[in-house]
Amino acid sequence: MTPVAPARDRLRIAIQKSGRLADPARALLASCGLTWRESRDRLFCYGETLPIDLLLVRDDDIPGLIADGVCDFGVVGRNVLAEQDAGRVAHDQASAFREWRALGFGKCRLAVAVPEGWSWQGPAQLSGMRVATSYPALLSRWLADQGVAAEVAFLSGSVEIAPRLGQADAVCDIVSSGGTLAANQLKPVATLFESEAVLAGPVAELDAIRGELAALLLRRLDGALRMRHSKLLMFQAPREVLPSLLPLLPDADAPTVMRVDGAEDLALQALCHGAVTWQRLEELKRAGARGLMVLSVEGMLA
Ligand code: ATP
Ligand code: ZN
Repeated sequence: MTPVAPARDRLRIAIQKSGRLADPARALLASCGLTWRESRDRLFCYGETLPIDLLLVRDDDIPGLIADGVCDFGVVGRNVLAEQDAGRVAHDQASAFREWRALGFGKCRLAVAVPEGWSWQGPAQLSGMRVATSYPALLSRWLADQGVAAEVAFLSGSVEIAPRLGQADAVCDIVSSGGTLAANQLKPVATLFESEAVLAGPVAELDAIRGELAALLLRRLDGALRMRHSKLLMFQAPREVLPSLLPLLPDADAPTVMRVDGAEDLALQALCHGAVTWQRLEELKRAGARGLMVLSVEGMLA
């Protein structure tokens, strides 16, 4: 008989133990008010303020942990999820994951790169070539979509060195700045996939207790994600210049306008969701605003 897994009344989130996504993932969850007590082996963090625990693992293990129900959520690159999903679809299995939120860090793309000396004429040029990658399912799907028959050579790491070692003609790898490719005399020529870190969960619904915890976490996460780029802008201005000031705040929520006792000018505050640069402050000042003040937002709950 299959043993029945005991019901869990705590939420469990898998994040990368070390690597590019480890610190930002933890910082984002901490900004949602979560704190943890770390186990001695640093693999498990027990949630203190809320029953939300962390499991620290390799990023490649995160989709499997979600699919198996060991974790309820994971913070992982969309590229890793998509590769595992493409593998499932290739075997006629349904997608096992749902992307709950894009998290805005770990941005990169999956690209085909060829030796710098090639003059690129399009995907057909890869016909009969050997392309090294850690993303065989996504690459195979793309090649099939392009109608190109090329050999997909799986390498688990150091993909970009393969052409120099004579292991492959081209590569398909994750690129952010392109510096690693350039250092290996390769140039990106086609983007298969744009990626960033996401909060992923299973397709299936959670039970009532964990579902409620998940809803609370998502509410806080939305606040934290909005807050990250938000600034509170405060200033004063004569009423008649408002029509020329407001178009300078296209990314702001409708500003709060207050009359100040005994003063001609109005006091305004606007929550801006884009960068509040010096240039913008100067434009506002030229349009008649004064006493401009930019404040960081510490918390937000819609
Ligand atoms: P692990 O030991 O957990 O398996 P890893 O070496 O596979 O780590 P990292 O290099 O830390 O993983 O990358 C994790 C994720 O960061 C990638 O899957 C990708 O989503 C994202 N990322 C952003 N920029 C880059 C980049 N330039 N190269 C590789 N990954 C990047
Ligand atoms: Zn990995």
